[in-house]
Amino acid sequence: GRKFFVGGNWKLNGDKKSLGELIDTMNAAKVDANVDVVCGAPSIYLDFARTKLDAKFFVAAQNCYKVSKGAFTGEISPAMIKDCGVKWVILGHSERRHVFGESDELIGQKTAHALESGLCVIACIGEKLDEREAGITEKVVFAQTKVIADNVKDWSKVVLAYEPVWAIGTGKTASPQQAQEVHDKLRGWLKTNVSEDVANSVRIIYGGSVTGATCKELASQKDVDGFLVGGASLKPEFIEIINAKA
Ligand code: 13P
Repeated sequence: GRKFFVGGNWKLNGDKKSLGELIDTMNAAKVDANVDVVCGAPSIYLDFARTKLDAKFFVAAQNCYKVSKGAFTGEISPAMIKDCGVKWVILGHSERRHVFGESDELIGQKTAHALESGLCVIACIGEKLDEREAGITEKVVFAQTKVIADNVKDWSKVVLAYEPVWAIGTGKTASPQQAQEVHDKLRGWLKTNVSEDVANSVRIIYGGSVTGATCKELASQKDVDGFLVGGASLKPEFIEIINAKA
């Protein structure tokens, strides 16, 4: 069985006061021990989050660069992330792709470097609304997955996050059927292009307007192995989402 995985992506939100309160709430909460929980903190708060959060929770950076050091003003490296005691990084998030113009090629290079450096990667993919309406969802997510797959050797260190862009921050959660359909297709792609073993073992999580109200039915889908949560990960509701299968 695939262990349920719930990531919170705090994005560019919070301060030491509000994040500290959120962390206190999480540390005090009763959470299903059968779930991997990861909090994606802004890079300037990685150290703060890792220091304050209970050891049973993981922390993730929201991005990193493709090399370990050098003249790259404003960037952070996997080596620095690890130096803060942090084990995970989110790569290829739709906001990195579409607000900051990151290419598939760059996301592939970042994935390779993060994994070689010993980080685990939450690799994000997802189609835009016009792509879904044009009927090319599969083509888009397969192409994004291929670039990631070309850069992965050890799939036990990777979680694939399917986040349809039209569902992110819009309140328009994908229906359980829509999520399941794409997750199933992605598993099929992995079976054909990587291996049956990887297809069966890799966790494919859903992101896009997940809430306490929508999480349970989504979590009951056969190929939905967890969530990547934005807005709701900043609220006590995140605990409900972590416990969606409990
Ligand atoms: P929302 O949950 O706010 O829609 O964000 C989803 C997301 O982008 C998580 O990475």
